[in-house]
Amino acid sequence: MPLILAGSHRGMVWGGNGLASVRMLVSDEHRLRLSVRIVWERSIYGGNGRVPCIICGGWANPVQKQGHQVLLAVVYNDRGQIYGEACRSCVNLGAKGIKECLQERIARLRNQLQDLQELERGEVQLPSLEQELSAYLE
Ligand SMILES: [Zn+2]
Repeated sequence: MPLILAGSHRGMVWGGNGLASVRMLVSDEHRLRLSVRIVWERSIYGGNGRVPCIICGGWANPVQKQGHQVLLAVVYNDRGQIYGEACRSCVNLGAKGIKECLQERIARLRNQLQDLQELERGEVQLPSLEQELSAYLE
């Protein structure tokens, strides 16, 4: 039974029906293991537009089920909170592949952050009007 959550769902806790409460209790017992759970669920978004993949940073296209339903792989933490969605190719990587993908992405983002911090520290020198004009006229 898929849950329909309204509005922004990042960090939203499962709630509503009895089934969700039971699953919540089960995941509370395993809190110390800090696992991430990926579940195929009916999309809570209208239409079948793509959403960002929380793992690779690419796009997650909903998977068409029979009828008009579309499924998304939803990523949960131990507390039943939603991190976001995962694309199909990330799900297909398996647990080990997902970890490797995350490690690579973290390293990439750290480098990018370093570059941005360096940029932010530097003095910004804009092109002069003459330089801009001559570049256009060349
Ligand atoms: Zn992905």
